[in-house]
Amino acid sequence: MGKREIERAEIVCGELKQTIPETRVELDYSNALELMVATVLSAQCTDVKVNEVTADLFAKYRRAEDYVGVDAGELEQDIRQTGFFRQKAKNIRATMEILIAEHGGEVPGDMEALVRLPGIGRKSANVILGNIFGVPGIVVDTHVGRVSQRLGLTKEKDPVKVEKALGALLPEAEWTAFGQRLVLHGRYVCKARKPLCDECSLIAHCPHFAREMS
Ligand code: SF4
Repeated sequence: MGKREIERAEIVCGELKQTIPETRVELDYSNALELMVATVLSAQCTDVKVNEVTADLFAKYRRAEDYVGVDAGELEQDIRQTGFFRQKAKNIRATMEILIAEHGGEVPGDMEALVRLPGIGRKSANVILGNIFGVPGIVVDTHVGRVSQRLGLTKEKDPVKVEKALGALLPEAEWTAFGQRLVLHGRYVCKARKPLCDECSLIAHCPHFAREMS
């Protein structure tokens, strides 16, 4: 981490606040349990599809006990449209068993406990911690990794190392929103195959664009 990366991170952070004022995750939820289930379902599935499925799912399953109170096959059918539904149903039921046995049926608010839950990785844990518990964390998904590299904020590829590298560039208070803005920037502007550089407010600060133009 150098002075140049810190300065660039501050500029990127400021610009993205202008272009993406709203930082809410695009998954629909009204409590911690729903956000946790939605993050499990979002693996290899679009947020739009997850929201379609959870509109009915969350009306039917309200507590951890509800997910283990039905046959595995019933839950599988209820989440079928999100893909990989057998594994996801297995993970959700196993997670609910742990919540009931160890956390009074509630979602725990610390990283260590969250990443022990089947189907919850560090990325999902950071989504839950940031949006439910107000614990600062940078969500690193494929978009964040790609955009961070293009913008010259880090050369790291491993998500945990990217998370640490980005965290070192900005104050903790910025982490959660910055990560979410990078996700949205990557999803809609700095796309994997064809980044929309002409529409990007970061163009003047982007080493990737400068390289492509040279
Ligand atoms: S200028 Fe292009 S490559 Fe750079 S961040 Fe913007 S969209 Fe991505």
